[in-house]
Amino acid sequence: MARINLEHIRHAYGLRLSNPNDYALKEVHHEWNDGGAYALLGPSGCGKTTLLNIISGLVQPSEGRILFDGKDVTHLSTQERNIAQVFQFPVIYDTMTVYDNLAFPLRNRRIPEPEVDRRVREIIEMIGLSDWAKKKARGLTADQKQKISLGRGLVRSDVSAILFDEPLTVIDPHMKWVLRSQLKLIHKQFGFTMVYVTHDQTEALTFADKVVVMYDGQIVQIGTPAELFERPSHTFVGYFIGSPGMNVMPATVTGAMASVGDQSIALSGAPKLAGQSKIELGIRPEFVRLGREGMPVTISKVEDIGRQKIVRAQLGAQPIAIVLREDGEIPADARVTFDPAGINIYADSWRVSNS
Ligand code: ATP
Repeated sequence: MARINLEHIRHAYGLRLSNPNDYALKEVHHEWNDGGAYALLGPSGCGKTTLLNIISGLVQPSEGRILFDGKDVTHLSTQERNIAQVFQFPVIYDTMTVYDNLAFPLRNRRIPEPEVDRRVREIIEMIGLSDWAKKKARGLTADQKQKISLGRGLVRSDVSAILFDEPLTVIDPHMKWVLRSQLKLIHKQFGFTMVYVTHDQTEALTFADKVVVMYDGQIVQIGTPAELFERPSHTFVGYFIGSPGMNVMPATVTGAMASVGDQSIALSGAPKLAGQSKIELGIRPEFVRLGREGMPVTISKVEDIGRQKIVRAQLGAQPIAIVLREDGEIPADARVTFDPAGINIYADSWRVSNS
C-alpha cells in the first residue's frame, strides 16, 4: 500500500485555459496516508471523478505531480501504478464462474495456486458469495455481479491503492448498508489505502476515517466525520454535511460579541479577523436552543421526522433551522439561544478561529 502525494494538481479538459474558473480541478495539494480510508465527497461536477482518474492514471493532469511512496508516477499507466479499481457498474467476465472471476487478477500475476485459493476463499466469504462460487457470473443479479467487482478489487494484497467510483450505486439500499460496513471491516483487517468517491454523505461518513470534501474543483476540508460536523472549515461544508445543514447568518463582530440584525450574541472568544469584510456566523441546528429565553423567533414550519423535529423559524429577517428532540416543546412565545461552543465564524466563507 502507498502514501499518496498530490502536488499542485490542476486540470482543464481540452485546452489549458487562462481563466482559473474553467479548471475542473483548481489546486489540489495534499498528502494522503498509507493505509488511510478516504472518501471524496461533493456535489455533482465538483471534480471527484477527475481527481480519482488522475490518481489512477486514466487522466493526465494539466499541471502538477502524483507521488506514490515518494516515487513520481505522474506519467505511469494504471497498470504500472499497480492500482485496483471498482467502478459504478460491474466489470466482470460473464462466462467465468464467480471463483474464477476473483482468481483471475491473481493468476494473471502468477501467484501460486494455493495462495490464489486462500485469498479467493477469504474474499468470497466476505462479500457473501460463497454459495455461488461455482456459478457462472452470467446468471447472477446486478447486485451479485457488483459484489464480484468489489471482490476483484479487494482480492490482491500487493496493490498501491484501491479506488472506488460510486461502487454501490446499483446495489439495493439494505445491501448497501451491509457492504459499506463490510468494506470498513476489510479496511481495518488489511490496511489497504482506499479512495472512495461518492456524493452521498451517509456513505462517506460510514466508510471513511477521513472525508475529503470537494467543492468547485477544490478540496475544502479533509477531516473526520466529527471534525466536519463540529468545525466545518468552509460554509459549504457546513451546508453540505448534516441534515438540515448549518445555519449561516451575516453578522458584524465587535470583540467577543456578534450582531445578527438587531440581536447581540456572545461568542466564546474574540475572533482573529484580518480586516475581512464578510463575516458570517455558522451554527448547526442541533446547537440552537428553543425555549422561553433569548431572542424572539417566529415559527414558520415544524417537520416531525420520528426521533426529532426540525423547526423552521425566522429570527428577524434571518431564516434558521432548529433541531428539537422528539419530546421537545415549542412554546407559544418562542425564543432561541445559541450554544457558544457551537458557533463558528467565517470570513469570506472560510472559518476563522475565535479563541
Ligand atoms: P459527478 O458526481 O456528477 O460524477 P464529479 O464531482 O465526479 O461529478 P467530474 O466528473 O470530475 O465531477 O467533473 C468535473 C468538471 O469537469 C465538470 O464541470 C464536468 O462537466 C467536467 N468534465 C468531466 N469530464 C469531462 C470531459 N471528459 N471533458 C470535458 N469536461 C469534463
